[in-house]
Amino acid sequence: MALVARQIESDRGTTLEGLLRTGEALLSDAGIQNVRHEAVWIMEAALATTRLALQLDGQRAVQPEDRARTMTLFARRAAREPLQYILGTQDFCGLEFAVGPEVLIPRPETERLVEAFARQRLSAPAPIVVDIGTGSGCIAVALARLLPGAVLFATDRSAGALRIARQNAARHGVEGRVTFVAGDLFEPLRGLGLEGQVAGVVSNPPYIPEGELAGLQPEVQSFEPRMALVGGTDGLAIVRRLVAEAPEFLAPSGTLMLEVGQGQAEDVVRIAAAQGNYGPAHILRDAAGIERVVCLQRR
Ligand code: GLN
Repeated sequence: MALVARQIESDRGTTLEGLLRTGEALLSDAGIQNVRHEAVWIMEAALATTRLALQLDGQRAVQPEDRARTMTLFARRAAREPLQYILGTQDFCGLEFAVGPEVLIPRPETERLVEAFARQRLSAPAPIVVDIGTGSGCIAVALARLLPGAVLFATDRSAGALRIARQNAARHGVEGRVTFVAGDLFEPLRGLGLEGQVAGVVSNPPYIPEGELAGLQPEVQSFEPRMALVGGTDGLAIVRRLVAEAPEFLAPSGTLMLEVGQGQAEDVVRIAAAQGNYGPAHILRDAAGIERVVCLQRR
C-alpha cells in the first residue's frame, strides 16, 4: 500500500530531485539502510549523470524514458537485488571488477587473502600460482597485477563465471598471464604438467553451512550463486577437498592459502594436520578481527 501510494505521489515528481526522493522512498520501504547514497548511485548509472549535476540541477525535468529506466533500477534494488549486480561493478584491491549474477561479489575480507598471498616471498622467478573457484577472477587478476613475474591458472565450474573472469583479466591487462580453465577444483589442471610445480594455491571457496543460507541477508541468499556460497552441511566440504588435493600440485614448500568462515579456522587447521602433508599452519585475521585466512605449507 505504502509503495503504491509513493509511486502515485511520485508521478508528480518528474524532476531529478523528485525522482531522487521517489527512489529513496522505495529503497527505504524495502528496508535498505544507505538509501541516500544508493539512490544517487542508481541515478548516476541510469542517467549517465553525476552527483554534482543532481545537486546543482535538481529542478531539471526528467524525460519519461529516462524516468522509466531509473525506476526499473530502483525496483530491482527494492527487490533486494545487490547494488553491485545492478551497477555491474565492484572494487577489489583498488581495481574495478565486472560482476553479475553468475559470480560472487568480491568482498573486502578477500583482499586480506590476496594481500597475504602477495606478501610471501615466492622463490621461483616465474612462480606458478593457482586460484581455485575464481568466480569474477578477482583474486587471480589482483595477484597477476601484484606479482608481475607470476604465471597464473584459475579454475571454476561455472562457464558464466569464467566469461566474466576473462573479461576482468582483459580489463586489467593481464589476459596473457592468467589461464582460465573450466571444471571442478583441480580437475581441469590435469594434463598440463603442473603436478608438483605450483608455488601457491589460493582459494576463497564456498564455506557457508547449508543450514545457514536461509539466515543470510536477502541480497546474498536470493541473488548470489549458491554454488559460490554453500560448502555442504558443515561448510567445510570443499575445504576438505582442497586440503586433500592441493599437495599433488604444490611444489615442496608451496603454500595453500584459504579464506574461511567465522569460527572455521581451527577446524581447517585440524583437517590439514590430519592430512599429514603440511607443516604448521598459520591463521590471519581480517579487519574485523575474525580468523579469516589459513596458510598451509606443503612439507
Ligand atoms: N574467488 C572468488 C572470490 O573471491 C569467488 C569465490 C566463491 O565463489 N566462493 O570472489
